[in-house]
Amino acid sequence: MSQVSRVVTHWIVGNEQDRGIPNAYSKNRIRNHMRRYSAFAIAREGARYHTGWERAWKSPAPKKRYDAIIVGAGGHGLATAYYLGKNHGIKNVAILEKGWLGGGNTGRNTTIIRSNYLQDPSAAIYEKARSLYETMSQDLNYNVMFSPRGVMMLAQTEHEIRGYERTAHANALQGVATEFISPQRVKELVPIINIHGPRYPVLGALWQPRGGTARHDAVAWGYARACSDMGMDIIQQCEVTGVRRDGNKVIGVDTTKGKIDCDKLGVVVAGHSGVLADMAGFRLPIESVALQALVSEPIKPCMDVVVMANTVHGYMSQSDKGEMVIGGGADGYNNYTQRGSFHHIEETVRALVETFPMISRLKMLRQWGGIVDMTGDRSPIISRTPVENMFINCGWGTGGFKAIPGSGWAMAELMAKGASPLADEFTMWRFGEGKFIDESVAAGVAH
Ligand SMILES: Cc1cc2nc3c(=O)[nH]c(=O)nc-3n(C[C@H](O)[C@H](O)[C@H](O)COP(=O)(O)OP(=O)(O)OC[C@H]3O[C@@H](n4cnc5c(N)ncnc54)[C@H](O)[C@@H]3O)c2cc1C
Repeated sequence: MSQVSRVVTHWIVGNEQDRGIPNAYSKNRIRNHMRRYSAFAIAREGARYHTGWERAWKSPAPKKRYDAIIVGAGGHGLATAYYLGKNHGIKNVAILEKGWLGGGNTGRNTTIIRSNYLQDPSAAIYEKARSLYETMSQDLNYNVMFSPRGVMMLAQTEHEIRGYERTAHANALQGVATEFISPQRVKELVPIINIHGPRYPVLGALWQPRGGTARHDAVAWGYARACSDMGMDIIQQCEVTGVRRDGNKVIGVDTTKGKIDCDKLGVVVAGHSGVLADMAGFRLPIESVALQALVSEPIKPCMDVVVMANTVHGYMSQSDKGEMVIGGGADGYNNYTQRGSFHHIEETVRALVETFPMISRLKMLRQWGGIVDMTGDRSPIISRTPVENMFINCGWGTGGFKAIPGSGWAMAELMAKGASPLADEFTMWRFGEGKFIDESVAAGVAH
């Protein structure tokens, strides 16, 4: 065998030892950088019985000290860590997660992505996020299955027509591509819809053609893999139980795996933000409630856009597996339960059935809940805190999946430089100053 063919053979099928190793991970664990995923890699691994794939991220023991600690390995925490490394060169970073990464709201949402918000600061950060989703699979070398299939928000009252026409005008000024479309166009795009409902006929819709969905787990996994590849430590099953300070300055955290020191602390824990703020000795204007969703049995493809019906409060898309993914409302009382409740199935399906009569024939398969963090103006908080070098990112409520890359980008910039143009308006002090960013129509009811 020539030297060239030996090298090529090694590249394709690995060497003899590789092929014989029962636990293929053992050898690859010591690699410094991960191999790229590609069509070629699939062919190579196919040829050697898939024995050469590496673990997507490492699971190290915590070090004593990091330049930055992020609490919460949801999408927002992982994206913050990723952009700290990628945009600002800060790679001595730990991401601490009390459960498993992506096990919070990031793995529980209905994956709708859109940026058709009314206020300028919101449109800026959500559109930044949406545009980052467009190239996320290439950036992370991980297929997040971004599907810009189009999102429509139905207008089913005169009031909603006025509201959505106003949003379409605002979006035109903000450079966000949306338009108000007629009921006939709605019917063309969604043949299964009933536009002549007796109570709430469809009077039009706000349409964002480049909105859509992405695979939520993949977003968390893709960021986690990229963070691990940069040398960051993702430490799961590690609950933060205390915030340590020297005077008014943060110096580290107490965790179920011991004390860990840090220069900067980013808290990105969604529904548990109030709990972490309490550990640091301040209060947040946040309420935590469970938000629920459900999926039907899989059926043949019948709807290739996302439809939100905010008047009746329900929204629906069809997953690649064929399930109808249905989002419902938030519980009417504060709680920390991560589960669904029976009456929500009835309420949500009853609300949607007039507009989508065909769902009355579907069996519902699963339901679940996540703890969402709601602010009074339904806009997020990306902010310094009363504790020096401690930063907080929360308040995404019912609609933060779509914001993950933009939020991570802004939070990383805030932590690295002390300010971020995308985050400036979202301080926690805006509530005391009366500078609300009112998105109660765009974000409070639906997602
Ligand atoms: C049913 C449902 C449907 C939704 N639908 C949509 C949608 O269609 N579109 C959309 O844009 N958004 C949607 N959302 C909202 C979206 O899921 C959230 O805004 C977003 O996922 C929040 O991400 P996160 O990273 O901030 O939080 P999470 O993913 O919840 O991550 C926070 C992490 O912090 C960890 N943590 C908490 N306390 C500690 C501690 N003390 N120590 C260590 N770790 C800790 C948690 O375990 C968790 O993993 C929906 C939410 C739900 C529940």
